Amino acid sequence: MAQILDGIGIRNQILEECKERVAKLAAARRPPGLTVILVGDDPASHIYVRNKIKACEEIGIRSQRLTPPADISTGELVALVEQLNAADDVDGILVQMPLPSQIDSKRVLLAISPEKDVDGLHPLNAGNLATNRPGPRPCTPSGIIQILKRCQIPIAGRRAVVVGRSDLVGKPMALLLLHEHATVTICHSKTVDLPGVCREADILVAAMGRPALITADYIKPGATVIDVGTNRISDRSVAERIFARAPEKLADFDKKGGLLVGDVHPVEVAERAGAYTPVPGGVGPLTIAMLMVNTIEIAERRLGLC
Ligand code: NAP
Repeated sequence: MAQILDGIGIRNQILEECKERVAKLAAARRPPGLTVILVGDDPASHIYVRNKIKACEEIGIRSQRLTPPADISTGELVALVEQLNAADDVDGILVQMPLPSQIDSKRVLLAISPEKDVDGLHPLNAGNLATNRPGPRPCTPSGIIQILKRCQIPIAGRRAVVVGRSDLVGKPMALLLLHEHATVTICHSKTVDLPGVCREADILVAAMGRPALITADYIKPGATVIDVGTNRISDRSVAERIFARAPEKLADFDKKGGLLVGDVHPVEVAERAGAYTPVPGGVGPLTIAMLMVNTIEIAERRLGLC
């Protein structure tokens, strides 16, 4: 059976390291500060923001959550971001996506000072990543690099295939793997013979948002498979397809009325891969840990302590 890459253990390790760095900053100057802006009532966003604030509390980062009214205009939100850009004690600014439809999200993200861009999504930081210059990196892909490194999975010289080309995950993932000297292929919805391309991968990263699409047929025996997908399934026929050989998971589905699954078939990957990240408990926990790391690094830079 394949090795399970335990994202929770690695997250805990990283948070312990963060605690020490935060304590040093607090002793030398002040604790790092993160401000999260949450607009609207998307339930998933509320959960994500709650977890981010909780992680800050756990390690001593000073956090604040701003919740402007759901009908705020783009101009008003940009003005709020500009106030935070100018605030000395705010190191990181995060605008939780998605924003309500009346707001021009790109304009808001562009308004965040690249220096305080904890999510690493500002075009200037995308450029820093593309050219391998220092700057905050998008949290999910940088968390995946941490999983690979801390589990001693070699990257240099390996064939890596990333399925998905979003600005948030796929593209930065491919660039980070490239900077670690992998030979990288990016796939998307127009890729011809996706299973064949995926089967070339020593490291396969699935970031599509398509429940259990990556089956055994896509996986080179012994490959490392990283599952970024976070899909809540509630249709029993989908659950039956995925969990035909895992009756305990099907029972769990029936009990809860739904389940979280990745983009990779959870039963087939365990039989064919060399190592893989489970869903939940794989990539997800790293995303918040890397947000903490980014906040601390920005604070260290702004306070001249690195
Ligand atoms: P996204 O913006 O919707 O991008 C999805 C990408 O997958 C697109 O590039 C799309 O191709 C490609 N794609 C879709 N269907 C495909 C198919 N059948 N074959 C090949 N490629 C296909 O999604 P995202 O923001 O990158 O997120 C991807 C997944 O990761 C989602 O499930 C999301 O919930 C999850 N996620 C998890 C975390 C975490 O912390 N665990 C963080 C972020 C995202 P085109 O470009 O051609 O349309």
